[in-house]
Amino acid sequence: MKYLRSVLLGSIALVLSGSAFADDHNDEKIIIIHAGQVLAVPGKAPLSAQSIYIRDNKIVKIAPGYKLEKGASVIDLKNSFVLPGLIDSHVHLRSEFNPNIRLDRLTKRPGDVAYDALVNARKTLMAGFTAVQDVGGTEEIFALRDAVNAGKVAGPHIRASGRPISPTGGHGDAHGYRAEVLAIMHSPTICDGVADCRRATRSAIKAGADVVKITATGGVLSNTAAGVEQQFFDDELIAIVETANKMGRKVTAHAHGKTGIDSALKAGVKSIEHGTYLDVETAELFKKHDAVLVPTVLAGMTVVDWAKNKNWLPPASKAKALEVGPQMKDMLRIAYENGVTIAFGTDTGVSKHGENAREFGYMVEAGMSEMDTIKAATVTAANHIEMGNTIGSIEIGKYADIIAVDGNPLTNIEELYDVDFVMKSGVVYKGGE
Ligand SMILES: [Zn+2]
Repeated sequence: MKYLRSVLLGSIALVLSGSAFADDHNDEKIIIIHAGQVLAVPGKAPLSAQSIYIRDNKIVKIAPGYKLEKGASVIDLKNSFVLPGLIDSHVHLRSEFNPNIRLDRLTKRPGDVAYDALVNARKTLMAGFTAVQDVGGTEEIFALRDAVNAGKVAGPHIRASGRPISPTGGHGDAHGYRAEVLAIMHSPTICDGVADCRRATRSAIKAGADVVKITATGGVLSNTAAGVEQQFFDDELIAIVETANKMGRKVTAHAHGKTGIDSALKAGVKSIEHGTYLDVETAELFKKHDAVLVPTVLAGMTVVDWAKNKNWLPPASKAKALEVGPQMKDMLRIAYENGVTIAFGTDTGVSKHGENAREFGYMVEAGMSEMDTIKAATVTAANHIEMGNTIGSIEIGKYADIIAVDGNPLTNIEELYDVDFVMKSGVVYKGGE
C-alpha cells in the first residue's frame, strides 16, 4: 500500500509541477551515475562499481570506478543494482478492466480516455517500465505516443497498433450490445475476405499504427461463445501480412488456439500474443519463421482469479477464462524449453497498471532463469518492438533509460516488483535524491 501511495503521489506531483519533464533535454550538462552493480547488457554478467555518463538524453560513456568531473552532477546508486529500463511488449494503456468496463465504452469521451491513458502511462513509467508496446485500442493512444515523443507529457516510449484487425464477430469486434449500439461501435478495422482485409489493414496504418495487431483467434474477454481457435481464413491472414509489409509494418497476432497460432506464423506474422495452446510442433514453427512469443501469463492468472472469486465476467467469458488461464504457465514452459524467442509482455489493462513486473514471478515459476526473464524484458523486447538500436541495454549511444533496485534481481526476481530509481531519456522520475 505504501508503495502504491508513493506512486500515486509521484504521478500527481508530475501532473502539477511539470518540472520533472520540463527539461527533458537537459542541454549539455553531464550526469554521472555511480552504480554499485550494473547489468548493462542483460544476458552478459553484471559489472561492479561503474560510472555511467549521461549527456542530454543519451548514454555517452561507461567507465570502471566512481568518477567525478567538474560541472557534472552525480547520482549515487553505489548501494543499488542498476539495469536498463524495462519494456512491456503488450499493454493497453487506455483502460483498466473493472466491472463497469462495458458501460465505460459508451460513456467515456475520447478526452476522458486520453487522460486515463496518461495516468496509466505514468504508473507504468514509475514502475520502471520505460517503454511499452500498446496493442489494441482506439486512436487516443497515438495522441499519447506523440505527446510523449514531443516531451509534452511524461510516459514510457510507446509503440502502438491502435485498433485491431478482426473478422466480423471475432475477438476484436464489439459484442453483446443492442444492434443500433453495435452499429455506432463498428470499427473500420473489422474485415471479411481478402480485399476487405487489405482495406482494414491500410485503414489501421492510416490512423497511425506502428505495428498491425490482428485477432487471429477467439479471446477470453470478448463476450461471445466462439471458442479460442482460428477465426481468419488463411487467405485473409496472408492479405493482412502482405498489405502491412508493403507499408513497412510488421504484424502481431493475438492467438490462443494452436490452429490460429500455426496459421498466423505460416502467413508471416512476426509475433504471437498469448500463445496459450502452442505445442512442440508450434515451437518449431516459431523458430522456422523467426517469430517471437509474448506470453502474458499475468493476464491468464488475472482472469482465472476473476472467474473463481469475482462476479465480473459474463458467462461466455468466464468459461473461456477457466479454460485458458491455467494453461498459460505450461505454455511458457514448453516454449522456453524448446528455444522459442520470448519477449516480456503482460496484457496490462487486464491486470492493474503499474503491476506489470508481476509477470517476472510467473516467468520464473514456469522455469525461466532470472537472467532470461530480464533479457526478455530488455534486449529481446527492444528488438521485438523495433527499438533495439535505441533502448534495451545500457550502452553508449542509447537513450538513458535506467532503473535501479536495492537487491539483486538475479537471485530474487521480486526485487523488480518495487523499483526504487527510474530515469527515462536522461530525466529522473523516481529516486536518486
Ligand atoms: Zn491484450
